[in-house]
Amino acid sequence: MNIGNKIAEIKQNIPAQVKLVAVSKTKPNEDILDAYNSGHKIFGENKVQDLVKKQEELPKDIEWHFIGHPQSNKVKFIAPFIHLIHGVDSLKLLKVINKEAQKNNRVVKCLLQFHIAEESTKFGLLIDEAKTILESEEFVTLNNVAIAGVMGMATNTDNINQIKKEFSTLKNIFNLLKNEYFSNSEIFTEISMGMSHDFKIAVEEGSTLIRVGSKIFGARNY
Ligand SMILES: *Cc1c(COP(=O)(O)O)cnc(C)c1O
Repeated sequence: MNIGNKIAEIKQNIPAQVKLVAVSKTKPNEDILDAYNSGHKIFGENKVQDLVKKQEELPKDIEWHFIGHPQSNKVKFIAPFIHLIHGVDSLKLLKVINKEAQKNNRVVKCLLQFHIAEESTKFGLLIDEAKTILESEEFVTLNNVAIAGVMGMATNTDNINQIKKEFSTLKNIFNLLKNEYFSNSEIFTEISMGMSHDFKIAVEEGSTLIRVGSKIFGARNY
């Protein structure tokens, strides 16, 4: 199956309102163009340098998502064009994004990343840390970032019940934040969860945005 067919197959298996971010990290422009020419416009990368190069070389109507944690000193390179930054987990990073967005006269959308997995290696906030950020005096002054929702990664396991539980936790966090801080926000709508091996479960648990790489482009060789 070619790349376009793989994307079509995934889209057939998710509800129409769930968006697919095709994670093209480590993959060459030709692969991205295959997907693009089949009609797909949303791509995700996790290295600033690679993303900037691809953005320069590829069609300008691609919607680029940053799916990791940009280093503070590199945010300036993606601020002019990035559509959504998925992996924000500190006030410090939000402040940097705000500053660089302001320089570009933009409001950059961000997702707060939460720690929902069992592994201690996965990044992310705990709910109390998020509350501290959202209730801080500084947060209110950040007019060039918009919190568009939450993001999380489940434990890498075959235990479907555990994955389900972790995604359900993220959905609950979304609902809680929505009620407490974003009830009037039209932007706070996204729950970014689900990758190649677990996106079906994620969609069942309420994902609005899945991030799928290897199932579209094949295994990555780093
Ligand atoms: C690489 C990556 C993905 C895609 O992973 P696959 O298993 O290849 O689908 C999704 N989200 C994040 C944050 C990633 O780094």
